[in-house]
Amino acid sequence: MEYRRLGKSGLKVSALSLGSWLTFGNQIEDKVAEELMDMAYDSGVNFFDNAEGYAGGKSEIVMGKILKKKNWDRSSYIVSSKIYFGAEEKKPNMIGLSKKHIFEGTHNALKRLQVDHLDLLFCHRPDPETPIEETVWAMHQLVQQGKALYWGTSEWSASEIMEAHYFAEKNHLVAPVMEQPQYSMLWRDKLEKEFLMLFRNFGMGTTIWSPLASGLLSGKYNNANPKDTRFGMESLGWLKDRWLVEENLKKINQLKDLADQLNTSMPKLAIAWCLKNPNVSTVILGASKTAQLKETLTSLEVVPLITDKVMEQIDQITGTKPQT
Ligand code: NDP
Repeated sequence: MEYRRLGKSGLKVSALSLGSWLTFGNQIEDKVAEELMDMAYDSGVNFFDNAEGYAGGKSEIVMGKILKKKNWDRSSYIVSSKIYFGAEEKKPNMIGLSKKHIFEGTHNALKRLQVDHLDLLFCHRPDPETPIEETVWAMHQLVQQGKALYWGTSEWSASEIMEAHYFAEKNHLVAPVMEQPQYSMLWRDKLEKEFLMLFRNFGMGTTIWSPLASGLLSGKYNNANPKDTRFGMESLGWLKDRWLVEENLKKINQLKDLADQLNTSMPKLAIAWCLKNPNVSTVILGASKTAQLKETLTSLEVVPLITDKVMEQIDQITGTKPQT
């Protein structure tokens, strides 16, 4: 496993990490969740990603039970939560980024995960109904109290993140260290264009999500309608409609040919491509089956195969390289 600094911070995060969205406490049995965490940890993964909103809090409960059972040295892993969407109940002050919900949501996440502190605490979305100042103060205080070690944002715009930085600097408060953006061969603009100044000016780290575009980039939907998949879940029709379109399938057919030429698989190529970007601190893997994780955990070996020429071929096939 390779370890990367989380931006300019001193924290070392494994280049591949494991997330629990849609899987833990929902799509998969707890036994499979445990097998996935075991496999990841044994491969050197040190970061497990979670959020109050995943499976209405159940994802944290499942992960917390596993962490407790494993009794791994607390300093050997990093665990996160994200505040914004609320857990099981969503009354007005049980969601968002007010000081009240940030404090109470974080305390509840700590209880569900059965840990004394979160290593990473994210604001899961920007909250248009709370001043950024209030959120920065609340995050600063949680860090001061030792409830969270580093705080960051997820799916905030560059200007919102900058505002948080300027406010923190002016008031000598702890500033955000990392952002969790979506990033994949099919979703590039934010990380490769909008955020460049954040990397340059503030040394932000990134923990990227949906590197396979929810499984689409594994190639399994090409010329097939596989059962028991994310796009087959009834509640996720919106996600399927967004990704499973002819234009994307055509691109992935060509990417599959390229993966064949490189003697690798589509999931590994797609994840290795994310790892090539030096502004990526860690790629968060998702898996509903141990065989999937077994495969994607070996993606680092594909990184050296992605030469400049291969990068250009990928740009040509996807057509997603941001215009400068
Ligand atoms: P991916 O885009 O990599 O999708 C993972 C899914 O793809 C798996 O659950 C599985 O779904 C399928 N898959 C994975 N590996 C393979 C394989 N080798 N072959 C075939 N299918 C495969 O990542 P996620 O969307 O799951 O995101 C990763 C993590 O990022 C999440 O767990 C979460 O922690 C975080 N996240 C954060 C968000 C945010 O707003 N901050 C939003 C979303 C995610 P299946 O088998 O069911 O088809």
